[in-house]
Amino acid sequence: MAVGDALAGLDPAQLEAVEHGDSPLVVAAGAGTGKTRVLTARVARLLESGVPPERILLLTFTRRAASAMLSRAASLCGDPQAAQRIAGGTFHAVAHRIVAEHAQHLGLEDVTVIDPDDVTDLIDLLRAEHGLDGTEVRLPTTRSIADIASRVVNTATPVRAVIEEQFPWALEQADQVAALLRHYRERKRVRGLLDLDDLLIAWRALVADPDVGARLRARWDWVLVDEYQDVNQLQVEIVRGLSPDGRGLTVVGDDAQAIYAFRGASAGHLLDLIEAYPDATLVRLQRNFRSTQPILDLANEVRPGEVKLRLVADRPQQGGRPTLVTCRNADDEARTIADRILAAHVDGTPLRSQAVLMRTGSHSAQLEVELKVRGIPFHKFGGIGYLETSHVRDLLASFRVVLNPADEVSWYRLLTRHRAIGKASARTLAAILADGGVDRAADAVAAAPAKARTGLASTLSLLGAVDVTTAVPELVEACRGAVDPLLRAHYPDWNRRVTEVEGIAQAAAAQSDLRTFVSEQAIDPVNVAGDWAKQPHLDEDWLTLSTIHSAKGLEWDAVHLMRANDGAMPSDMALTSSAGLAEEQRLFYVALTRARDTLDVYVPSQLPTHPTAFLAKHVAAKPSRFLTEPARALMEAVSTPALTPEPAVKAAFAVPRVCTDAFDDLFA
Ligand code: ATP
Ligand code: MG
Repeated sequence: MAVGDALAGLDPAQLEAVEHGDSPLVVAAGAGTGKTRVLTARVARLLESGVPPERILLLTFTRRAASAMLSRAASLCGDPQAAQRIAGGTFHAVAHRIVAEHAQHLGLEDVTVIDPDDVTDLIDLLRAEHGLDGTEVRLPTTRSIADIASRVVNTATPVRAVIEEQFPWALEQADQVAALLRHYRERKRVRGLLDLDDLLIAWRALVADPDVGARLRARWDWVLVDEYQDVNQLQVEIVRGLSPDGRGLTVVGDDAQAIYAFRGASAGHLLDLIEAYPDATLVRLQRNFRSTQPILDLANEVRPGEVKLRLVADRPQQGGRPTLVTCRNADDEARTIADRILAAHVDGTPLRSQAVLMRTGSHSAQLEVELKVRGIPFHKFGGIGYLETSHVRDLLASFRVVLNPADEVSWYRLLTRHRAIGKASARTLAAILADGGVDRAADAVAAAPAKARTGLASTLSLLGAVDVTTAVPELVEACRGAVDPLLRAHYPDWNRRVTEVEGIAQAAAAQSDLRTFVSEQAIDPVNVAGDWAKQPHLDEDWLTLSTIHSAKGLEWDAVHLMRANDGAMPSDMALTSSAGLAEEQRLFYVALTRARDTLDVYVPSQLPTHPTAFLAKHVAAKPSRFLTEPARALMEAVSTPALTPEPAVKAAFAVPRVCTDAFDDLFA
């Protein structure tokens, strides 16, 4: 039996966790000790022992993680169909399904989910409406106001207290921020919009409801949660509400990797759970199956926390020490990373087994240019993503206004894509259209700037030809027709984006329920750019660029950790509080523990004053404070030569299958 095979590889502590009965189980263990693997094996074991798949709920942090675990469990238990019937996904995705199912009970006509970018658009709209958008208004940025809103609900803390803690300089404006956020909540209600936090709030309310809650509890016998260290208060309450006595509950996590405190997660959730359930079993896993010992020695050294828990490698081979690469500046860093990636590639580590990790998406600006110039294919996860996916989101916005004409943010987005419609007119027109949909097309066109009228009339007439009752493929086709000219006019690099738009249009046209599909894209945007547009073909090879946050739970043979400078990592935004600094240290630890065989840490000696301004003045930059003396003693130090010979080597990735040979010549 396949499960037997899976169990055979597990060590005794892992086995104990997999075979554990139905009393509450907490697996608290360090990075790479096999927590996720244990969870997967446990699911497979449950299925094998005859538990019906629909009685299992598996919660993860990304959709990628959920689908990877489910397909692995399926192959372990030898019944692919069974694993597909397991309820699994991110907290938000599952919340969405449950909320949609109980929309009536919640007093919602339908469920339209808005993503974080829509949230800032909507808050911007409201700022303008209330005259809070001028430069003389000293309010926090819109993004910060959105963060405040999120913190308020995720930590159950009043607006004023959150501002006091996070934005003390804006305390005088606390009342204005609070008022703005009340408008925000009211507008979401009027327009039938739910943000990601609202989904969790609604799910929690359903769990707390006497009737619905009882039905939800009866639905699943087994609730399993990965990366529990990063749940926030709402998620804790949902989990506890689903399993008041902890029967069938399994959670796994590592407090040293808690990296979402800024979102309301607080370290210590794992231990709280043990206190909450007196009969809980705590399993600790000791052996690390991922990395070589020299990598773990460094990770152990920087590992935060008072108790120095040491990770010990199970892998027999020693492996080299992590490398500390000192570079001259950001450009030199980019060139050096590219050189070392190509060198590793020649040595047999394909691009897909390598990743460049960074604290913040903007750090890779120079590197991305360098990779493009050299023809090294890559995909970027996490971070800005906005430029990469905004055309996809434009198409989604067109679906959304057809499905819910009151969706003011989506109207706004589409309107700003028209030439000659500025932000101010887009706001006015969005309000008109959100009130009456395309029935008010004539009013909107009349109110539009003269130059924009023909274009707008054409968009609205194309969108007006379909509505929520139209068959999905036809609806998608009409929206494409309306959006295509806007995209062509708006994006200079339109050609590059065509495939992604095509991909999402095809995926959308194949849906029976377009509304759910659209909401799911708001919930897990990685997927928009990820699954269909970024799935590598079998003979294709590409490098991963990722923020550390998006690299959680993943691993690569070779990890290149860039920009390990004070101010970048730890981020200078976190330096004001000790809690912020501790979180940065956990992030650093997460980054180091992603590496299996080799780990390179890059430290430029000079950096531009602004990360994305290429010609900005360079100033001296210090190595990260986390690279302490004892930490450096565990690394191999190298420096780039004073001048890297130019021009740099250009890779021949256009022909993936022969590129290894091509490199031999280049590196001879
Ligand atoms: P993280 O904290 O980073 O999420 P984790 O504790 O979830 O790590 P896994 O991702 O489950 O760790 O496992 C790390 C690696 O070790 C994976 O490649 C996994 O397949 C491997 N592994 C886990 N357990 C064993 C084992 N008993 N034998 C061999 N390899 C194992
Ligand atoms: Mg894991």
